[in-house]
Amino acid sequence: MFDRILVANRGEIACRVMATARRLGIATVTIFSSADRNARHVAMADEAIHVGGAAASESYLRGPAIIEAALRTGAKAIHPGYGFLSENPDFAEAVEAAGLTFIGPPASAIRAMGLKDAAKALMDRAGVPIVPGWHGESLDPALLFKEAERIGYPVLIKARAGGGGKGMRLVERSGDFHDSLEGAMREAEASFGDPHCLIERYITSPRHVEIQVLADTHGHVVHLFERDCSLQRRHQKVIEEAPAPGMSAEMRAAMGRAAVEAARAIGYAGAGTVEFIADGTRGLRPDGFWFMEMNTRLQVEHPVTEAITGLDLVEWQLRIAAGASLPFVQDDLAIDGHAFEARICAEDVTRGFLPATGQISHLAMPPHAAFEHSPVRIDSGVVEGDSITPHYDPMIAKLIVHGETREDALARLISVLGMIEIAGTTTNLALLRALARHDGFARGEVDTGLIARDLDRLVEVAGTDRRHMAIAAIVSLGLLRRPVGTDPWYNLVGWRQWSTNASHIRLERRGNGHDFVVSSLGGHRFEVACGGWRIALSVRATNDHAVECELEGHVFHARLAIAGEHVTIFLDGDAHGFDCPDPLAGEDEPAEADDGITAPMPGLVKLVGASEGERVMKGQRLFVLEAMKMEHTLVAPRDGIVEILGAAEGDQVEDGTLLLRLRSEETGDG
Ligand code: ADP
Ligand code: ADP
Ligand code: MG
Repeated sequence: MFDRILVANRGEIACRVMATARRLGIATVTIFSSADRNARHVAMADEAIHVGGAAASESYLRGPAIIEAALRTGAKAIHPGYGFLSENPDFAEAVEAAGLTFIGPPASAIRAMGLKDAAKALMDRAGVPIVPGWHGESLDPALLFKEAERIGYPVLIKARAGGGGKGMRLVERSGDFHDSLEGAMREAEASFGDPHCLIERYITSPRHVEIQVLADTHGHVVHLFERDCSLQRRHQKVIEEAPAPGMSAEMRAAMGRAAVEAARAIGYAGAGTVEFIADGTRGLRPDGFWFMEMNTRLQVEHPVTEAITGLDLVEWQLRIAAGASLPFVQDDLAIDGHAFEARICAEDVTRGFLPATGQISHLAMPPHAAFEHSPVRIDSGVVEGDSITPHYDPMIAKLIVHGETREDALARLISVLGMIEIAGTTTNLALLRALARHDGFARGEVDTGLIARDLDRLVEVAGTDRRHMAIAAIVSLGLLRRPVGTDPWYNLVGWRQWSTNASHIRLERRGNGHDFVVSSLGGHRFEVACGGWRIALSVRATNDHAVECELEGHVFHARLAIAGEHVTIFLDGDAHGFDCPDPLAGEDEPAEADDGITAPMPGLVKLVGASEGERVMKGQRLFVLEAMKMEHTLVAPRDGIVEILGAAEGDQVEDGTLLLRLRSEETGDG
């Protein structure tokens, strides 16, 4: 076994790999960018080498600098994690050429599966069923259009070099084909440096079912059963589980065989995943699944497989890379219970899943194990105080739960999701909670369209009621009696002894202002009035982050996080954030709602669709903004003439930057 390895990644996966290395007595080296000097993976490693600037292209994607870091520190092998260089065959080759071991499959296997078109052709020849479609070489839009017409709509355009759902467009009718193709090609070129796309028939009611394989360098290949990753948004996984609901032994065997066949066909070694799409309309059937792609690396969702098999996949990656032979055969393996993984991400679900940024001012998790088997496992690469920047993936943590049955595991998922508290950035926790409680999901009726179909219901904002508002007002006014023996805490507006005078405060929730009048009634009792209502309640701090309240004989507990002018109230599993705007700060002069376009998130301007003085039509595409490798299109809010253009192609813009203003219409010239 290696005595020292370098982990060429960041975030939770770098930490996860290092945790296993440490358990096996292997010293760890990692790398970091200028943005990550204080990141958790750096703190966790024995040594870390700075490899460049914040942008991934200047650091985590700099193969030569990473190999140099390994040589400099005496690491014998490099683990690439997922993303970044993990599926780059040139990097794998360069690592080996430098006399180091690449902890992953041979470069030839990565190359064989690297491009989806070649992979499909290969699988077809190996007798593995593939999704019908076109996977030629051409870049000619007219030819691709003809193929799409032949395949029949809806079709899916995919970057052949794609990954992580990028460079993918669903096209439902002819008229949309060209715009979608252009977008897919541009995203493919930007993310993968290769504009080539393939076209597939879009399987309706699709289920994403994938098989984990493990192969050693001595010709042994086994599969570790399936994972169902059908809960997706924008073709990216949100909740994964193993085993797949409704899976029959017959279909499992058929898929397992096809996956092992795929791995054998390319001389695979290490841990890998063969992704299939299944037609969910008639239930899972052995004749209703097709090969989509193979991911020649560890997957984000590998912990659910670890939960149901008891194996540590990183340990097996390391052992296989060191030349070990798999000591078990297929028949030795069995499924133990059921597991779910939920990806907790910094994103604003209500604004089209826009990636969010910000500093995690408060992070509280229920008791759990990290990076190892446990009924409640939370793998995270951040700690309280860390910032989520636009440079990298917005995933904050992965929650993995394991239970004897699907029902047990789901109950655990619901309960733990309700105990996680994150403040300082917008997260998808509310969506995850809603999904975990979704009836169809509870029945195992999953398909990749579930989230989009039920989005309205899933993102119904948990109603902020008088309780949240009253607590926020009392806390923001600094009226709570300090819990005994604690540090300065309620310093939001300044500590104050209670007084019988009424205090006034204005708080904002999701951009709406609320004016409160709060009176202390003595002890822990207050009267709070706002708009048309008035309530009397008691609120008592039980510790630095918790209050016990009583309203009309009902006692309940809430948790609090305070950062600067922001208070977050956690109650019944939901977070409600309030801002206490500085009354002295000037009001931003609000642009007429439909006269301007502001950047909805920090990002890179990829395309500007108009110039100053140009007449544009409502709905016309005016900007393409890229953040975290996803593209977001911004369209004209109305017909009009561009008066001001606030950004040019290639600009990095901040959240809220005015990108464009339309001229007021009265002048109406043409
Ligand atoms: P990536 O490399 O981005 O992961 P995949 O080919 O694995 O790309 O596809 C990502 C997701 O898109 C799948 O999990 C599935 O939900 C959806 N998808 C892919 N191909 C099809 C298809 N032909 N029909 C319907 N959905 C598909
Ligand atoms: P999984 O199938 O394990 O969910 P994904 O395809 O979602 O894997 O990608 C795993 C991680 O790697 C994600 O953070 C994704 O953004 C990133 N990723 C995947 N493929 C690429 C790629 N080719 N280039 C950059 N990042 C990628
Ligand atoms: Mg995939």
